Amino acid sequence: MSEKAVSRLRTLVACLVLAFFWFCMVNLLQDRGGAVGETLARFLPKILSLSSKSGVSEATARKRPSSSELLPDNAPLPPPPPPERLIIVDAGHGGLDGGTQGNGLLEKDWSLQIAKALEEDLVGRGFKVRMTRNGDDTVELSDRIDIANEQANHLLVSVHLNHTAEPSVSGIETFYWLDQSLSVTKAVREQYEAPTGVPLTDSRSELLAQSVQENLIQVTGAHDRGKKEESFFVLRNSNAPAILIECGFVSNPQEAEHIVTSGYRKRLARGIGNGITAFLNEVQADRWYGVTLTPDLPEAPEELVQVPAEDNHNNIQ
Ligand SMILES: [Zn+2]
Repeated sequence: MSEKAVSRLRTLVACLVLAFFWFCMVNLLQDRGGAVGETLARFLPKILSLSSKSGVSEATARKRPSSSELLPDNAPLPPPPPPERLIIVDAGHGGLDGGTQGNGLLEKDWSLQIAKALEEDLVGRGFKVRMTRNGDDTVELSDRIDIANEQANHLLVSVHLNHTAEPSVSGIETFYWLDQSLSVTKAVREQYEAPTGVPLTDSRSELLAQSVQENLIQVTGAHDRGKKEESFFVLRNSNAPAILIECGFVSNPQEAEHIVTSGYRKRLARGIGNGITAFLNEVQADRWYGVTLTPDLPEAPEELVQVPAEDNHNNIQ
């Protein structure tokens, strides 16, 4: 073959390659409802935000993608986190902070005894347990939260005893808090890989409180004061489902008598252990138990997001 013929052949091949690419581009642009269009729809917002950062196409990039763009109807849910298996047991008060008192009982002493019974019960069930204190130590509330939040996949159970001026008042109540701090909300969103702009509702603490309260009453036969929402420090700052249990009134003579008996403390521990186990079985069956993503709801304006006020009632808030 002559040099001229080779050159013509090369030109022809180059033209064919160009025609092929042109054909592909036309097909890509026409494929609006197909897989290519969907991919573009998913990634266009990201591409726009990148171009905004680099200063390109500023006006177009300012438009915030709607939640339906970020989470298409047919998009699979992100993988959920593994179920919680580490239990942080927090004995209320301790050291310089005695807590409340009544009928000769100081709260810090007996919250620790109940916490130790709970530790034994939970270890017996195969849970890993981390105590925030093992003796009569002063532990700041922020340190208790640091101990809990540095762990992955845990639950937090804070154990307390109650007091009131009226000696006849008795019973058990379990507290939870849903409107967590912004840092907790951020941590939970990261844990569940929630897409930006899609509201996430986390009611796991309420479900845990419900389960523990029901089981506690079933095992102890104590007066049921129910589950209650309250903004205690350890509840609103925990990255994981958290509850605070008031295991009885030291101001009530009968309940004070029960609390000093190891058999009753074991029953309290069994009730809490049963409640935790029932909750975690639900989580095991459905890792989205208590957590929902609601892509169709409009995102709340940032100025409406409220941070609970700090206070110091009974030194547990
Ligand atoms: Zn207390």
